[in-house]
Amino acid sequence: MDCINIYDLLVFANHGVLKEENVLGQKFVVSVSLYVDTREASKDDDVDKTVNYAEVCKLITNHLQSNTYKLIETAANETAKAILTAFPKIYELELEIKKPWAPVHLAIDSVSVKIRRKRNVAYIGFGSNMGDRKKYLQDAIKLINDDELSYVDKVSSFIETKPYGYTDQDDFLNGAAKVYTLRDAHSFLELLSDIENKLGRVRQIHWGPRTVDLDILLFNDEIINSEKLIVPHIEMHKRDFVLKPMMEIAPEAVHPVLNSTVSALYYKLNEA
Ligand code: ADP
Ligand code: MG
Repeated sequence: MDCINIYDLLVFANHGVLKEENVLGQKFVVSVSLYVDTREASKDDDVDKTVNYAEVCKLITNHLQSNTYKLIETAANETAKAILTAFPKIYELELEIKKPWAPVHLAIDSVSVKIRRKRNVAYIGFGSNMGDRKKYLQDAIKLINDDELSYVDKVSSFIETKPYGYTDQDDFLNGAAKVYTLRDAHSFLELLSDIENKLGRVRQIHWGPRTVDLDILLFNDEIINSEKLIVPHIEMHKRDFVLKPMMEIAPEAVHPVLNSTVSALYYKLNEA
């Protein structure tokens, strides 16, 4: 991936553990590497198709001057988040904040924190079998996209499915989506649960009727096994109504436990 580098941007701001630092302020020096695909922009020689580094410098300066953090760790994290939120074309970034005049009363040249952050890629499966099913699914997708840390990149078509598990209920409409998010997996699950609640889901019967069900299928190549969250989704390889929409948007995505692509899982399920 191509990289745009900004070296040693000087920002006068008020971060620090000591009160004096918060009041008097001091100089911070910021460097960032922005991983961006610049091919489109260079083909057309068009600044709108790349990331304008002047805009990034403005955002960094603004962010560091309008907030006060105790730690440069926090300053780095929050600044990285602000950059990734404002510039969807940046795929990954490395950001270093230096404090050349850190008040430690010893002969150091400077201290710095350097972090690397990238967008997480999540695949979700969704379903509805109550009321206006299509509208519930569309609303859910819109609410995910409205989250300032998340961005819906691809949505499959919706397919009709016979109920699974508890079968004495109406047919489902199911689909899958690819989402870029700056949230970690647990925070992303919280977002999905909040949206389910907002759209009127009441948990009564396990696998029973629902206005909308939002499940995390894959999250990067992470394997998660906590009390609240199991990723990859424990049933995804057994469910045609998950694999079929996934075939549309990500046949090449890899299930990191079974070490198998979505398309291999789909064909295996359908030949059995
Ligand atoms: P189901 O999706 O199996 O029909 P629910 O939607 O009622 O069931 O989810 C029950 C719980 O499953 C959630 O509260 C959540 O904490 C947990 N869970 C575990 N792994 C996942 C996952 N990958 N995606 C969504 N929820 C999950
Ligand atoms: Mg669920």
